[in-house]
Amino acid sequence: MPHHCYLCEKEAHHHVKLKNGDVLDCCDEHYNRWICERLGLEYTRYVHPKTISVFGERFRVTMQVGPDGVMYYASRGRKGVEESYALQLPFSMSGKEAMKYLRGKVSLTTMFVSDDKDELDDAGTIGIEYDDTTEGEDPYFIFKGRKLSPDHLIELLSFYPGYNLSYQLEPRVPDPDAHWITYEGHVVPGEDDDDN
Ligand SMILES: [Zn+2]
Repeated sequence: MPHHCYLCEKEAHHHVKLKNGDVLDCCDEHYNRWICERLGLEYTRYVHPKTISVFGERFRVTMQVGPDGVMYYASRGRKGVEESYALQLPFSMSGKEAMKYLRGKVSLTTMFVSDDKDELDDAGTIGIEYDDTTEGEDPYFIFKGRKLSPDHLIELLSFYPGYNLSYQLEPRVPDPDAHWITYEGHVVPGEDDDDN
């Protein structure tokens, strides 16, 4: 049975365990609004355009507010094998201002990417996901919009002896169907409950 958001009709993908023991079910937007309120931030400041364009390609923009800043995601392509880029920015930056940096992040990587799907470029992105449709959850890798098995990835990398594969870890855009649990006590740890 899907839970509905505590404030609207949308399905809840965030479940906040409150300090008082209750659970708050939220849609993405109302989760971001809730966490902003708890952190003393103005939610509307982080509202951003729905898409950005980089080198003529359109990317969906989503964001998630966390205790340390706002994570903005740019993604495009089919669910499960999306191209995905992420950038965490400080609360001092508005959602509008953030797009300049997100666009920069995407363009810095995509400018090196060729159409050849069997070749690594001078810079690029390899995603890591889990396939939960098979038993035991097999990992798979995402390269240029398609799935690679672990064996296929090793084969691809083995064409490049004498090279370093340098990397940068970033979270992939959250699956819209995934569920997330947040503990209020982690968001505002220093707060004394008795003050309320
Ligand atoms: Zn909602």
